[in-house]
Amino acid sequence: MNNRLSRLRAQMAEARLDALLITDRKNVFYVSGFSGTAGYLLITYTEQLLVTDSRYTEQAAKQAIGFTVEDVADFRLETFAGKGKIGFEDLSITFAEYKRFAEKLGELTPIGKMLLNLRAIKDVAEIDAVRKACEITDRAFSHILTVLRAGMTEREVAIELEFFMRREGASGMSFDTIVASGARGSLPHGAPTDKIIAPLELVTMDFGCVYNGYCSDMTRTVGVGDITIGQNEVYGAVLSAQELVLEHIAPGRTGRQMHALAADFLNESFPGRFGHGLGHGVGLDIHEEPSLSPRSEHILVPGNIVSVEPGVYLPGECGVRIEDLVLITPDGYENFTHSAKELRIV
Ligand code: ZN
Ligand code: ZN
Repeated sequence: MNNRLSRLRAQMAEARLDALLITDRKNVFYVSGFSGTAGYLLITYTEQLLVTDSRYTEQAAKQAIGFTVEDVADFRLETFAGKGKIGFEDLSITFAEYKRFAEKLGELTPIGKMLLNLRAIKDVAEIDAVRKACEITDRAFSHILTVLRAGMTEREVAIELEFFMRREGASGMSFDTIVASGARGSLPHGAPTDKIIAPLELVTMDFGCVYNGYCSDMTRTVGVGDITIGQNEVYGAVLSAQELVLEHIAPGRTGRQMHALAADFLNESFPGRFGHGLGHGVGLDIHEEPSLSPRSEHILVPGNIVSVEPGVYLPGECGVRIEDLVLITPDGYENFTHSAKELRIV
């Protein structure tokens, strides 16, 4: 935890800040370890304060090791006014909150992605939590293969996945589970419906859970009963695109380069049918830095955790997406998603 604070202070110094206000819940947790839902941090070079209300002061004292916990009822934030340049989290604060802080502190300086950039490089505890979340998602996929059959609805499949992950120790889902079958598969983010899954359909399942505060994210597409030659071609192309990226992903490559590898490959057989970014960072949030997209100049470094999820979507016909979560390592990557990727027919 102290390591996170010292990395943060180095960033504050680079931005010539004298103090930093942290209001985003995930960032409060990241920097202090405090998991309550109300409170903010005030960081200077000599002090770290956690200000919360009486519901949380006891919990905060236990979780936020090394922090001075202040009860908001007695704390006088205005004493920090005029003590130099104070940074604030412009990307996540509400306008009302901003006004409340600015009334007491005067002018505040936006810090943009400072915290998000720190969070993009995971430490050992974070890597361990994401790995464990991915183990649960892998087990959920094995489980759903024994359950998923023609005649079930998409919603039933989603509930089965979610119930299994909760039973295996997940504290929640990292996003709304996606189950899209048949022609609905062309919706990259198809929410599960009461549509009945039929033979000769592909079913795309995109799901993830939260473990110790950290997210997992995986997608597999399976066939029901049997599949057509056309569906098999789509599946083969998406799998080859993903394997191509995994052959090249490594420190030093940019997010844009990784996206282009998959997009150029898929555009040869299915022009314009891979419309979204190749991947995104995953951690405390399901979508965080760095992104693997056409505009991402982010240079991958060891400690980044990113999804690799090419897809092909044919409106009125079907869709295929395959997604793994990988940790960038000094020599390349470690794949956290172990589920087999050859097309499974259930
Ligand atoms: Zn996903
Ligand atoms: Zn994803």
